[in-house]
Amino acid sequence: MDDLELAVLLLNSVDLLEDPADRMAHDLRWWRRALRRNGHAALARTQREADRRGLLELRAIIRSVFETSSEARARTLLNDGLASAGAVVQVTPAGLGVGGGLAARLLYAVAQLVAEGGVARLGICASDPCRCAYVDRTRGGTRRYCCTLCNDRAAARAYRQRKGQS
Ligand SMILES: [Zn+2]
Repeated sequence: MDDLELAVLLLNSVDLLEDPADRMAHDLRWWRRALRRNGHAALARTQREADRRGLLELRAIIRSVFETSSEARARTLLNDGLASAGAVVQVTPAGLGVGGGLAARLLYAVAQLVAEGGVARLGICASDPCRCAYVDRTRGGTRRYCCTLCNDRAAARAYRQRKGQS
């Protein structure tokens, strides 16, 4: 899982189809487990309960970037976030990278995508009541749902509506 996928994972710690919806409301157990499950065991070990408030703030910033359709607003959110996360861009053997901790990394990953493809590549699932985030990697930018399940559910609903009308 790369940093951009980690940013989406953090956003989707809130899942309205789960109970409770916010799996980070009280502690970071879900977050650490999710990191381990996605190949980030070392990172999971560094996550302390004291970091939870910061993670929730980071989550709110990144969600705002995913929700806005304004490029200017996304840039402001990302630039402010990167500045307060102490993000430092560095040249590494693998290309450009960022130092300054997890917040800096996740914001940098989202910023790279916005810089290249604009906010249209960031989306919130259109399958009501799901509000999960996704990154649209389709060529035409046509993705509307977070997962196959939501896609199928929306298709079934549309089918029922068409049948009901005829
Ligand atoms: Zn969804």
